[in-house]
Order: sequence, then structure tokens, then C-alpha cells
Amino acid sequence: MNKGVILVDVSSDIKNIKGIGPAKAKLLSKLGIHSIEDALYYFPRDYQELSPLTFKQGREDRTGAFPCIVTGIAVTKKSRSGIYITKLPITDGKNKGYAVFFNQPYLQKTFYPNQRLLLIGKIKKNFGIYEIASPEWIKFEKNVPIEIERIRPIYSLSKGISQKLIRNTVKNALEISSGPEEILPYGILKRYNLLSLEKAIKNMHFPQSFKMLEKARERFVFEELLLFQLGTGLSRYYVKSEKRKNKYDIFDLKPFLSNLPYSLTSGQGKVLQDIIKDLQSEHIMNRLVQGDVGSGKTVIACAALYLSVKNGFQGVMMAPTEILADQHFHTLKRLLSPHNINVDILKGGLPDRKRKKLLMKLKNGTIDVLVGTHAIIQKDVEFFQLGMVITDEQHRFGVKQRENLVKKGQHPDVLVMSATPIPRTVAMVLYGDLDISTIDTLPPGRQKVETYVVQDFMRKRVYDFMVLEVKKGHLAYVVCPAVEENELDIINVEQHKDFLKKEYPNLKIEMLHGKMKQEEKDRILKLFYSKKTQVLVATTVVEVGVDIPFATLMIIENAERFGLAQLHQLRGRVGRSSLKSYCILISGSNQGTARERLNFFMSCHDGFKISQKDLELRGPGEFLGVKQHGFNEFKFASFIDNTEILEITQKLADAILEKELLLLPEYQNLKRLLDKKISI
Ligand code: ADP
Ligand code: MG
Repeated sequence: MNKGVILVDVSSDIKNIKGIGPAKAKLLSKLGIHSIEDALYYFPRDYQELSPLTFKQGREDRTGAFPCIVTGIAVTKKSRSGIYITKLPITDGKNKGYAVFFNQPYLQKTFYPNQRLLLIGKIKKNFGIYEIASPEWIKFEKNVPIEIERIRPIYSLSKGISQKLIRNTVKNALEISSGPEEILPYGILKRYNLLSLEKAIKNMHFPQSFKMLEKARERFVFEELLLFQLGTGLSRYYVKSEKRKNKYDIFDLKPFLSNLPYSLTSGQGKVLQDIIKDLQSEHIMNRLVQGDVGSGKTVIACAALYLSVKNGFQGVMMAPTEILADQHFHTLKRLLSPHNINVDILKGGLPDRKRKKLLMKLKNGTIDVLVGTHAIIQKDVEFFQLGMVITDEQHRFGVKQRENLVKKGQHPDVLVMSATPIPRTVAMVLYGDLDISTIDTLPPGRQKVETYVVQDFMRKRVYDFMVLEVKKGHLAYVVCPAVEENELDIINVEQHKDFLKKEYPNLKIEMLHGKMKQEEKDRILKLFYSKKTQVLVATTVVEVGVDIPFATLMIIENAERFGLAQLHQLRGRVGRSSLKSYCILISGSNQGTARERLNFFMSCHDGFKISQKDLELRGPGEFLGVKQHGFNEFKFASFIDNTEILEITQKLADAILEKELLLLPEYQNLKRLLDKKISI
């Protein structure tokens, strides 16, 4: 990047750099540095602030930078233990001292009196004399002012490689190469006030200031997110540009809506309009519907299915658990069968003959709407004319599973219902290939679920309160983290149920957990639905979606063991009608962050805010329960810290795609990089 020097191409071998022979090149290759470009992109893992110090200002425990002058000839002696010690006399202008080197006798010849040096190291007093042991040194010409990087890069190393080697390699690389070609068009750099690639790279390694370092990082975050948005935007674009084959003529939802026991909220209405617009457009639908717990997503799915069937297509709805599939089946049946729509459910473990019969009815079109778990992805499940694919998911279905379901139809419309509300920016990353609609209202009459955090010595009072609630004819959930007795002494469903039964022999108490057989689960839930069971002691199998309006109390044991988003889902199992509801968290731990987390939860009822907080606290991996989701592939960006750039780049990417700017000459480098990313 320096003028006056012969410039080499960034792709050329690292051995082009002064001082890098085969041996060093081999070492560097272990860090993935093979070419000049690799070196330029080998960014520091950290930075150290250095400003010039006098000996007196220096500290024993902190690296400092000391401008000084050599006052004599270096002398090397062999110590009793056989180490060669070289001492170089120096001064900072006021005080005298020594630079001390070990086992490098050849250094003796490197220095000469009156030479100006910058020494970087830790200084200490040895018998009243200043000593800087094993410093790094930089020589300065006579009349050149000493300039140091006040912010020094610290690189990740591997065996045999020093900070100095990498620093010098990078410095050289910057000098002898013209640097990688700019990727972003000039117009974008200017409009968003971004550093050029060249400047950004320089400032990543040797920042002029921390502010410039920030700017440099920002540029890479921007670039990374723009590429990401272009990538997902393109796939959205392809899907969108896929021409609709299933033609819709009927959009009259009146019969369906007028038959509902309530009218839609404004949020529901808006989302439904989005869906209708999709179905009217000449492209197929790929839409995510988000909404807080209890915002009424199911009825929206139902309306979409209604339209689909009225226009002559079949629909399918996939749920993450059997319990939910069952519940959806009942809801859909209740809402759709009055309109002559035939709803059925495909469960795992169905007897062969029944299964065959059901599959036949599906294939010949007798069944209009099929509900099920992922069991409906199986090969032998075939449709007559599948037009609408709906998944109700809790980040549980991978994109692949969704795709497999989509393949069962010919270009069906796709609706994804997100069971857990997630911040819009996260949704954009997680569901980048989908359009997003958000139900931003709750049905009227809903009251906030009153939430309390109590310590375990209050347990008795909590359960006495439960008795009062149940006596009113309401239902209560008690959620425990574990199923059976365990070494960690985590409260478990089996023992806790027995304990409650013994304490409250007059209550009708049952348990529910994932290890139970399907028929048993069905039986227990039916008992609960019909109020024959009053208290359901359960694991998080009830976490998502279960909808029992007269359940008013949720007690959560060992609450500190659950994530915030999970707690919010659990709390969402109550307060589903106008009945006053309560959520009581019992926690053994009254300390620090655990308590802080629960207190936050107590006062916050907005699912989006809660999941944002959860994400900040636990990081994406744990929050999503999956390690790879494109999230961890970001090198610079974080969708927690960079939400603003996420949104900016999304809009920019949309504009670029819409105006087909990628065809312009100044976009070619960006396009090339994008093609490379997509093909991986
Ligand atoms: P979620 O968005 O959590 O999936 P559901 O679809 O299960 O929510 O709906 C929660 C409850 O709210 C259900 O009992 C449903 O019948 C009811 N509900 C949905 N929409 C409305 C509405 N507009 N007015 C009143 N109740 C509604
Ligand atoms: Mg739901």
C-alpha cells in the first residue's frame, strides 16, 4: 500500500515478505497464513495501549514503551547457571538503566552508543538501577521523531511464533502489497461513512486511535452483514420470483370469521392482510408469523388453511410435539369442520391398517387438512394437491425439515408460526429467507399474569395458595426441571407429585412428562382439560402452545434452572382468558445474577424484550438450543450488538436486489464475494 515500493499481488506467497523463509513460512501456515492476503486478514485478538513513558513512570507489572538512548557498549557475561546475559546501558535522559537480554549474545553487535531506541517491556529496579528485561526493541534514525503505535496489536500465536514476527510480517505485507481490492462500491462507503478496505485493514492492525479501531471494525461488521443480507435476500428473492402455480380466486373470509367466538385483534387483522396479499400476488408465500405468547397465532394459521381449502388445495400443519399436534387438531377441527373442511391427524404409532387408510384418504384428497408432528415428513405421506404448508415451531424444525415438507406439494405456500417470540433482528437472521409479520397486540381482556419470585422456605404458603385457586374451579400447573430422582437434587416430577399428593390428599393431582407413553399423555391431558385433574405436575412438555383457558396458576420449581424465554413460555400457559392468573417462581438460589434474572422476569411481560435479554445473558448457542444457525459463522458481527447495522444492511440489500445493482461494474467485487459465499 506504500508508494515507491514495488507492489506485489495480495494473493502472492507469504515468502515474498522480507525475513520470511521456508521455515517461518511453515510456522505461519499453521495459523492459516499462506499468502500476503492471509497476513492482512490475520487480525489481532486484542490490543494493548502504550504511550511513551520515562523509566520512573514505568511499572513492574505492566508493559510500557520507553524511548531511550544507548549510552555504551553492550556486555555479555555467562552466568553461573550457564545463561548468557547481555546488558545494554541506556538512559531516558534523566535516569540510567539497562536493557537485559538472555541467551542472545549476538545482540551485542546490534546496538551502538548514541543509538535511539524504543524499548517495550516491563521495567523494574534491581539494586537501585532500572532494568528492562527481554524488551522488544525498535530502532530509530537520528533525526526522526520516535513514533510508536500507542495501540499495540496482540495476535493469537502458536508454537514458535512471536508477536513480533506476526507484527513485522503484517507491517511488511502492508508495505509491499497494494492490499485487497475494495469490495464495497464507493457510493456505499460514502453514504454510510465507512472506512475504505485499505484503511480499515491498516487500522485493524495498527489503529491510529481506539476510535479508528472502532470504525475499522464497523466497516467489517457492515460488510459481513451486507453479504449475509444479500445472501438471504437472494434466496428470498428466488423463492419470491418463483411464480405462483396455485391460483387463488376466493378471498372471502367472512364465513370463517363470523363463525369465530371473538373478533380478530388489529394485530391479527394486519397479519392476515399480509397473508392475503401474498396469496394474491403472482409469487408464492414464504412468511413467518411472530407474536407474543397468547397473541392468537393459531387462528391465523387456521384462516390461511381455510382459504387454501376453499381454493381447492390441501393444507398441512406440523407441530413440534404430539401434545401440540393434538391440540391444533382439535382447534382446527372445531373451527374448520363447520365449513365442510375435513381435518385429520397423523400420529406416530398408529396401527398399520389405520395408517394406510389415512394415507389413502390423504392421497385421494378426502382429507383437506392434515395435522401432525414431524412424522408427516415421512416418505409415504403423499398429498393429492398440497397447497399450504404451516409449521408451528420452536426453532425445532430445521430448514431441511421444512423443505422436506414443502417438497410434498408443488410450490405450496409456506407459513411459519414462531412459537417463541424473538426480537426482530434475531428473526431476520434465523429466518432470513422469510418475510416477517408480527402480531403486535394481545386479545382484549387479558390481564398481566401476576408474577412472584419466592425462596423455597415459602413453598408451603405457595401450595396453600394453590389450594385456594383450585377450589375456585381453576387449574394449576407445577413445573419441575427433572423427571425422576437425580444426583443433583433437582426437583423432579415423580417425587414432587407424590409429595403434593401426600400433603393435599383432597386434590386431584396427576403428572405429565416426555418419557410417558403417548396414550398415557393423551389420557392425562384429557383429564386436565376436563377439570377431572386439578393440578398437573409436569416437565417442560407443557412449555409451548398448550392452551387451557381456565388454568390460572403456574408454579415453577427450581426456577433458576430455566432460561428467561422458557419461563415466559411457561408463564404463557396461564392468563389465557380473562381470569386473573399467577405465576410463582420458587428458587433455592437467592444470589446475584440468578436473582437478578428472575427479578427482571417478574417485572417484564413483553416476550420480545425477554428473549432479547435471554439472548444477551446466555448467548445465541444456548438460547437457540442449537450451535449452528449461521449465527456463529459471523466473524465480526453480533446480532446483539449490531442490531442497527443489521437493519440498515437489510434495507440496503433489499434495495440492491430490487434495483438489480449487482449487475453494475462497481458491484462486481461484492458480487464475486457473494457468489463465493453462496456456493459454500
Ligand atoms: P399463541 O399465539 O400463543 O399460539 P393461541 O393461538 O393459542 O396463542 O391463542 C391463545 C388463546 O387466545 C386461544 O384460547 C384463542 O382461542 C384465543 N384468541 C385468539 N385470538 C383471539 C381474539 N382475537 N380474541 C379473543 N381471544 C382470542
Ligand atoms: Mg401457539
